Amino acid sequence: MKTLREYITEAEEKRVALGHFNISNVEGFWAVVNASKRLNLPVIIGVSEGERDFIGVKQVKALIDTLKSENLPIFLNADHTYSVNRVKEVVDAGFDAVIIDGADKSFEENLRMTKDSVDYVKSRNPEVLVEAELGFIGKSSKVWNEVPEDADATMTKPEKAKEFVKETRVDLFAPAIGNIHGMAKNLKVNYEKLDIERIKVIREITGVPLVLHGGSGITDEEFKQAIAAGISIIHINTELRLAYKQGLQKSLSDDPDEIAPYKYLRGARDAMQAVVEKRLALFNNL
Ligand SMILES: [Zn+2]
Repeated sequence: MKTLREYITEAEEKRVALGHFNISNVEGFWAVVNASKRLNLPVIIGVSEGERDFIGVKQVKALIDTLKSENLPIFLNADHTYSVNRVKEVVDAGFDAVIIDGADKSFEENLRMTKDSVDYVKSRNPEVLVEAELGFIGKSSKVWNEVPEDADATMTKPEKAKEFVKETRVDLFAPAIGNIHGMAKNLKVNYEKLDIERIKVIREITGVPLVLHGGSGITDEEFKQAIAAGISIIHINTELRLAYKQGLQKSLSDDPDEIAPYKYLRGARDAMQAVVEKRLALFNNL
């Protein structure tokens, strides 16, 4: 089976992107796995610190391992990780990739914690990919009421990105290019517009594949432009959370007397799977 790094290189050559989908329970796991099987496409399953604490760090890894005999291209990423200790925890548990997130720290502090993470990860297993980010893309996948008013000031500066990637030797880089986590409402500034030109410049100047966070709420056309400009992985989370909740609410209201979780949770799982399939089809020009 190909490695995650090989799938990323292949995606870039084909001008498509890998989908990264967050889960926090077994319904989410099946939603992503079923979608990947159905479309015969590689996927990355992501778990943030909160998500992985809920499902269990070792338990989510064990779930992925159950797929080994089927040779499925399904990889596990520790999404937004805020300390070197938690990076160590997931690398020791056998995750395929990890994101060290020092984006809200000073440039120097972000650089130092990213470097420390890369050193540890590569000493344990050079195949594990490390991603870091620079610039403001927000912290959590929720619906925002307010975001910083000056979008441009928070975007990643190409020169800074170059210095950061060179110093830290990260494998993947997440720039702030007008994207934001969660879905924002009542925007005073135009966060929905991605700075496509900035993606091109940052991809070229850093020399590493780029990851787009905060994918929920971006238009299909913008996704295509972003992929063409150099984005190789796209994170989807908020949309999945909304689909899960709405699917669950529908199941419960359709059959209020049902008490078997494996019956009423099907609606939640299936609603999530539909979103994953729709996004995968878009990212792969299907
Ligand atoms: Zn993210």
